[in-house]
Amino acid sequence: MPDTPIGFIGLGIMGMSMARNLMKAGFPVVAWNRTPAKAQALAAEGAAAAGSPREVAQACPIIITMVTDSPDVEAVALGPGGVIEGIQPDAVHIDMSTISPTTTRKIAARLKEKGAHMLDAPVSGGSWGAQSGTLSIMVGGDEPVFPRCLPVFQGMGQSIVYVGGNGMGQVTKLVNQILVVGTMNAVAEALVFAAKSGADLEKTIDAVKGGAAGSWQLQNLGPRAVKGDFAPGFMVDLQQKDLRIILGVAEEMDLPLPATALVHQLYASLQAAGLGQEGTQALVKAHERLAGVEARVKG
Ligand code: NAP
Repeated sequence: MPDTPIGFIGLGIMGMSMARNLMKAGFPVVAWNRTPAKAQALAAEGAAAAGSPREVAQACPIIITMVTDSPDVEAVALGPGGVIEGIQPDAVHIDMSTISPTTTRKIAARLKEKGAHMLDAPVSGGSWGAQSGTLSIMVGGDEPVFPRCLPVFQGMGQSIVYVGGNGMGQVTKLVNQILVVGTMNAVAEALVFAAKSGADLEKTIDAVKGGAAGSWQLQNLGPRAVKGDFAPGFMVDLQQKDLRIILGVAEEMDLPLPATALVHQLYASLQAAGLGQEGTQALVKAHERLAGVEARVKG
């Protein structure tokens, strides 16, 4: 299997590290990126640089995309010079971006007309998980091709779960994001409460993180926020992209998501203040503004 050339389209924060890990696992990688310098940088490390997504698909039986949003995946998959123009019968397009399940299903149907397969395999674990090859990968799509792709997923991630047909990987990722933003909101609100009460913020986090209130957000993002470190692991702007997808899907189903909608508005207040490029822990700042109190350690 490591002899199989893997196509990689989209060498951003996530894609570059994921492609590097595939190369470390022994896979030959054929890469394309809209801004050519990034593909050239990977070529200097041993990848082959292709001239278009079509060329990537012509050269590879498995093609991964890791770009930003639904229209971007649609453009590289179905647009001029796209994957669909070069994909071979029985080849697999794996989209690992977080996008709308509806767009995923549309692309899968078009690829099927060419005799090709699609898996939607969005990830959780952030840029840290991409670098260390420890991503959680939620896979939807054509089940018979999942075993063939498993060694490729294992080169990038640790938890790899097949969850159902086309679009169900994306649905599962959206569930993940509902959980993430609800938890981050609770962390932000709790820290502002602690600050207003005069509590030692670091001791408070230490005291509660191992109990029933513990979470990845509290453990990893809480300490950063109270130290004033708002550098992004995952940016507010990208979180908002995911929340827009979630709320759109919910609206199509007539499903209320009151807490998720509230967090979307709180993040919108940060974007309006020019903080869209900060990390998602900046949600603390939205609560600080409402409360008129800063949740920051002194010194
Ligand atoms: P990023 O650093 O902004 O990279 C985006 C990549 O997509 C770049 O390679 C960009 O090319 C390419 N791209 C965007 N629009 C394109 C288009 N229309 N045509 C061709 N290429 C296009 O983003 P990222 O953080 O790697 O995120 C990628 C995906 O992973 C997103 O769906 C995101 O939600 C998801 N994700 C991210 C994280 C995280 O922590 N960052 C965690 C989990 C999931 P250029 O280089 O030319 O701009």
